[in-house]
Formats: sequence, structure tokens, C-alpha cells
Amino acid sequence: MKKIALITGANKGIGYETARQLAISGMTVLLGSRDLSRGEIAASALHSEGLDATAVELDVTDDASIAKAAAVIGARFDHLDVLVNNAGVYVAGPASSTTRASLRRVFETNVFGVVSVTNAFLPLLRKAGAARIVNVSSEVASLGVITDPDSYMFALQDLAYQASKGALNWVTIMFAKELVDTSIKVNAAIPGYVSTDLNGNTGHLTAAEGAEASVALATLPADGPTGSFWGAVTSHGTSKMEVAPW
Ligand code: NAP
Repeated sequence: MKKIALITGANKGIGYETARQLAISGMTVLLGSRDLSRGEIAASALHSEGLDATAVELDVTDDASIAKAAAVIGARFDHLDVLVNNAGVYVAGPASSTTRASLRRVFETNVFGVVSVTNAFLPLLRKAGAARIVNVSSEVASLGVITDPDSYMFALQDLAYQASKGALNWVTIMFAKELVDTSIKVNAAIPGYVSTDLNGNTGHLTAAEGAEASVALATLPADGPTGSFWGAVTSHGTSKMEVAPW
């Protein structure tokens, strides 16, 4: 039977490429998009490649939107195999210029949204044989990397974004611990520095390369890890797929 995957923020960037690669691997993909028309354009592009994709309206900052998406998906499928919490926003700026409003905006999407979406879909994920939850994090959240003076990332000064992804790592660990006695695995993905709208297309990896970590964690075998922080680690030069320090 085909596996079913929901990817949030899948109308473009890394989320779209994650959906594309999971569909190529044989899954039915549900493209979460806060603007349904953008999601439908993305789904059409996947259809034109012969892939099984459907757009679902899902704004991760809106509990009514999350509940509606869970109801729509639950009416069509009796389980969910993969949830990729990919939707994210970036706000630049050091601690001294960070406002309550900018922190709220970033945390609403990157942290609170992930907890709300995961909890809304846990009943369907529990009904799958071996569900996988992937939280799209970032190497810039790593305390080990950011406090290492020899790291390329030592000088980064984006408090709201970095703290939000650090909190997302906590979210990952706490869900992984709570679900450790189930067949559900929960991991945090590191896409690497990827050329997308999020960073004004300045990254050195393509969106397809940036999707690799999410896809690998979404398709982990039964003996794969849970509660890990893994992907394209670049802090010391060449990008390598490996575990990062929290
Ligand atoms: P992107 O091209 O800007 O895509 C972000 C996606 O998230 C878009 O589909 C966007 O939808 C969606 N989104 C934003 N707020 C949302 C909300 N409230 N509800 C639902 N969807 C929402 O950026 P990206 O680089 O692909 O980012 C994907 C993930 O990778 C993010 O979590 C980001 O933090 C993470 N990441 C990126 C990099 C990088 O170098 N690019 C590195 C590490 C981690 P709209 O089109 O409607 O805005």
C-alpha cells in the first residue's frame, strides 16, 4: 500500500522538493500550503511529472486551519505515515534589535506551529505501522556549533531565528522521548545552506539537495534513530551528512 506523507509549507523551496522526492519514492504526498492556490499550483507541477500529490490548506499559525486540515485528511485516509514539519520563517537581526513582535512571529511558525500540527496529526500517525515525524531545523540552532570559535557560523547573529530552531530541537527531543516506546520516530533535519526565498536565494545548495535530510529521516528503517539532529553539516567547511551537536 502507498505511504501517505504530509509536508507543511510544501508549495515552494525545500518543502516542495521534499514532497517531490517522497512522491518519486512512491508515496502519496499532501502539500500543506497556507495559500491553497499556491499549493494547487505546486500540486499541478507534480502531477505533470506523473506524481501523486494533493494540496491541503494549512496555516501552521492558525489552530482552526490545522484542525480543518486534520479533519480533511482524516476523512480521506485512515492513517498518516509521514509528517514533515517544514514550514518556517526567518527574521534577521542581533539580540539588541530583537523585538517581542519579531520573536512572536518566528516562534508562532517555527515552534508553536510544529507542536500544534504534530498534536493534531498524532492520532493518524499512531494508526500508521511505523510513522516518521521530521522537524526541519537548522545547524544555526546548534549550541555546540554556535559557541565554537572555529566554526564558520560562530559570528551569526539572528536571535529570533536561531532561538526558534533551538526550541524546535527541544520539541524534537521531547516528542521523541514521549514516543520512544512506539514505532514512531521523531528527528530534526538539517537541510544545509540552501538557495530559497527564505535567504534571498543566497544558499550554495539547491532545494533538491536541501530536501535530502528530510527525505532520509522520513524514510528511516525500523533500526534508524529517533531524537537525532542530522543532515548537511557545514560548520567546518565541506558539507557532510552527519549528526550535529545539539
Ligand atoms: P521558503 O522557500 O521561504 O519556504 C518556506 C515555506 O514555509 C513556504 O511554503 C511558506 O509558505 C511556508 N510557510 C511560512 N509560514 C507558514 C505558515 N504560517 N503556515 C504554513 N506555511 C508557512 O524557505 P525554505 O528555505 O524552503 O524553508 C523551509 C524550511 O527549511 C524552514 O523551516 C527553514 O527554516 C528551514 N531551513 C532552511 C534553510 C535554508 O538555507 N534555506 C536552512 C536551514 C533550515 P508561503 O509561500 O505561503 O510563504
